[in-house]
Amino acid sequence: MQKPQLSGKTALVTGSTSGIGLGIAHALAAEGANIVFNGFGDAAEIAKLQQATAKDYQVETLYCNADMTKPDEIAQMMQDATARFGSIDILVNNAGIQHVANIEDFPIERWDAVISINLTSAFHTTRLALPKMREKNWGRIINIASAHGLIASAGKSAYVAAKHGIVGLTKVTALETAQTGITCNAICPGWVLTPLVQKQVDARAAAQGISIDQAKRDLVSEKQPSGQFVTTDQLGALAVFMCSDAAIQVRGVAWNMDGGWVAQ
Ligand code: NAD
Repeated sequence: MQKPQLSGKTALVTGSTSGIGLGIAHALAAEGANIVFNGFGDAAEIAKLQQATAKDYQVETLYCNADMTKPDEIAQMMQDATARFGSIDILVNNAGIQHVANIEDFPIERWDAVISINLTSAFHTTRLALPKMREKNWGRIINIASAHGLIASAGKSAYVAAKHGIVGLTKVTALETAQTGITCNAICPGWVLTPLVQKQVDARAAAQGISIDQAKRDLVSEKQPSGQFVTTDQLGALAVFMCSDAAIQVRGVAWNMDGGWVAQ
């Protein structure tokens, strides 16, 4: 039997206790990568997740509870992951939050939190992962941006600013590593039905007095011509491709997987 393509590699996926991060972590584990989980949640549930991933995919796992708003905790996570596995070969900057309000009503504390989790944390993980990647002359950095990294929606100032920012960071990282075996790219998903989006569905249903199912249909069809949610498995498959040898010249892209959202 052929060895899985990422066997012997270690992937750190921020915000991987839920949603897209978890889907990408599983897809990378299925290709043989050891997984460093990060994110919030119930300790017993996270321990179960770690054990199930290790067993199902025959890989090693570690969990770091770093809060991505805290540079010293991010540094500790990078140190712990490197101490355990020798290096972080694949870095997926995925942790993210959303807050919806018009600019004049936007709470300052929420602005700071969105920018720090969705953008600044990726600067810290990237700057700390790059030296080892350069030593090995191999690395993959995947930034989970959004359709909102390419276009805007009203009410999402901090999120759109952070996501446009991470697309910029992706391009700079790609240029600074262009002549190495390290690549950096962004994935720009459209709507994916995760807890982050479920909150927006629930808010829409409550505000308009419609059913949850109707709110889901309205939310998707308003932006995505396909009328379908993107799935975490589909995003996982794109991340695996970005980690493959075939993707070595894919550098600095912001790849939308969004049911046609930004084609309009
Ligand atoms: P989610 O809420 O399911 O998961 C978010 C993850 O981030 C969780 O593991 C959570 O614990 C973690 N997290 C939140 N704050 C953190 C912090 N301070 N420190 C460490 N971890 C923290 O959300 P999701 O929908 O899976 O979103 C994942 C990423 O995908 C985000 O960057 C989001 O902006 C992006 N995205 C989501 C969608 C969508 O439709 N769901 C679309 C485009 C982009």
